[in-house]
Amino acid sequence: MTLDHSPSPNDVAGIYEGIGPVYRTVWGPNIHYGYWENDADDSSIEEATDRLTDLMISGLAAQAGQRVLDIGCGIGHPALRLISACDVNVVGITVSHDQVAQATERAAAAGLADRATFQFADAMDMPFPDGSFDAAWAFESMWHMPDRRHVLAETARVLRPGGRLAIADVIERGPVSPEGRVVLDHICENYAVRSLGTVDEYQKALAANGFVDVEIRDISDNVSRTLAVMADAVETVRDKLADLVGEEQATSLIDFMRLSAVTPESGYLFLTAVRA
Ligand code: SAH
Repeated sequence: MTLDHSPSPNDVAGIYEGIGPVYRTVWGPNIHYGYWENDADDSSIEEATDRLTDLMISGLAAQAGQRVLDIGCGIGHPALRLISACDVNVVGITVSHDQVAQATERAAAAGLADRATFQFADAMDMPFPDGSFDAAWAFESMWHMPDRRHVLAETARVLRPGGRLAIADVIERGPVSPEGRVVLDHICENYAVRSLGTVDEYQKALAANGFVDVEIRDISDNVSRTLAVMADAVETVRDKLADLVGEEQATSLIDFMRLSAVTPESGYLFLTAVRA
């Protein structure tokens, strides 16, 4: 489904400053899905979420000294891991002032304040000159964008020719059954999402914006456990969630997480591309 209005930066911030901190008490500083190798993999939330960051890091293949744009940086945990792994400089953007403050504090605490800066900016209208980054990633932020194609155009603009892009994103996988549609609608209505992307939409939008060497992997099977694990984790702080959103909504959020974990239409992709 498509919300009849696009989520504003304020709507997105409302999620990450509202229920976000409650989820974070049980999920940790990575505001994204976990990656499990297979059913036998019993990695913890921390290990599985860091593993997804490591997949993004290897996909980005950034070189030491490069300048990387982190589109939708959260509280900066993935950016700091990227810097430690690749010795790059990162500029992170988010539409939450609270996240800017937390990410900045974390960079300072890690002794990386000179390598990582975070600022409030809308990916739909990036305050950066053309060709000013060597690489960019959007780590589970694209699902919130009112117009993904436009964000990809902005990303192509601020990347230099040859610059690499990596994206991890929650997507819709067709064909969508009526039961699947109910779950996808719940996601859109409750997590500031206008519509979920698809592999096909990404392929077209990347090509239309001059990205080449596009490699898209459907990693739904590796990450879908996230929702079940998160449901169990959030269950332990149900009272705090209910204080914020009410009993009924807390139940609905947790129930839909469990449902989403077993709904094949609720998918996830990882992609890399190069700006021509
Ligand atoms: N990449 C981080 C956070 C993912 S949560 C991590 O993996 O931990 C999604 C992030 O996207 C949030 O920081 C949110 O503020 C950001 N975001 C959503 N819409 C945005 C927009 N239009 N412009 C910039 N950031 C946006």
